Amino acid sequence: MRKTLLSLAVVGALSISANAFTLGELGNFEFKKANQNVFILHGPPMEPNVENEGFMNNPAVIEAEHGLIMIDPGGNYNVGKKIFAELEKVTKKPIIAIIDTHKHGDHWFANKLMKEKYPNVKIYALEKMIEASKAGEAEKWYGILERLSKNLKGTKEFEYPTISIKNGDKLEIDGQTFFIHSPKRAHTDTDVLIIHAESKTLFLGDNLMKLRLGGFDDSSSILGNIKLLEEIKSAPELNLYVPGHGPSGKMNEAIDPFLDYMKLLLEGAKKALDEDIEAYEMKPEVVKTMKEYQNWDAFNGQMGKHLQKALDELEALEE
Ligand SMILES: [Zn+2]
Repeated sequence: MRKTLLSLAVVGALSISANAFTLGELGNFEFKKANQNVFILHGPPMEPNVENEGFMNNPAVIEAEHGLIMIDPGGNYNVGKKIFAELEKVTKKPIIAIIDTHKHGDHWFANKLMKEKYPNVKIYALEKMIEASKAGEAEKWYGILERLSKNLKGTKEFEYPTISIKNGDKLEIDGQTFFIHSPKRAHTDTDVLIIHAESKTLFLGDNLMKLRLGGFDDSSSILGNIKLLEEIKSAPELNLYVPGHGPSGKMNEAIDPFLDYMKLLLEGAKKALDEDIEAYEMKPEVVKTMKEYQNWDAFNGQMGKHLQKALDELEALEE
């Protein structure tokens, strides 16, 4: 009898873990209540790779009376299935709307899976995000994510957003209110930041990251990103700040690390400009000021490029 009970317990434990969303050694991932009616599945803050299956962003849902509003559903169709399975453990209400924060595919390629589950879902993004994605950005990101995660093959039909939103918009969806802010150029030139009014949650997309550094692409502006985060910090404090990658938190704990990192880049770039030296010559001195970032994912691969970009932006201002 004892043996039977024991084996039942083992089977039970196995079936629970078989249902969990596990990524190799990275552990289990699940939607957790982050604030009021806001649930977030925080992905591992790292570059896309085979182990994380291309899942490393922070899909979130706001539970409304009849349905769900989802923000950044995930990085590909296959992880979308796992994200959806986790979501169903929290609520089986239908997804009625999706808002994509920007053009990078690691945030929105799972639109395809969500749309397959709920064909009536309305998908929102900035007009420029939709245009840029269709004009080649989606294709480019498919290549990047497939190369790094090997998890996209056969999923190349993109589910583009179809409803364009703009800076200053107020969306009322199933009794929930969202304010849209779109900076001209920050993480990219296609970003929307979303305030969920009822819970006082701000979704910053990749204008904020923690424990991981991503790229600043050609459409981005480090100066614009700094300005944006400073504006957010000078506004009345909200309850929760959600980055595109890494843990959410209160205003200062969430925003300061990334903002301070960019300010250190800028300081280094200014000094390089004053001393008329190249970014790579300046780099060792700047690295010394960045002790707390050296264990952030992709620090070694990204920091030098970021310093160069900051310097390029300062030089462009002088022209
Ligand atoms: Zn991004």
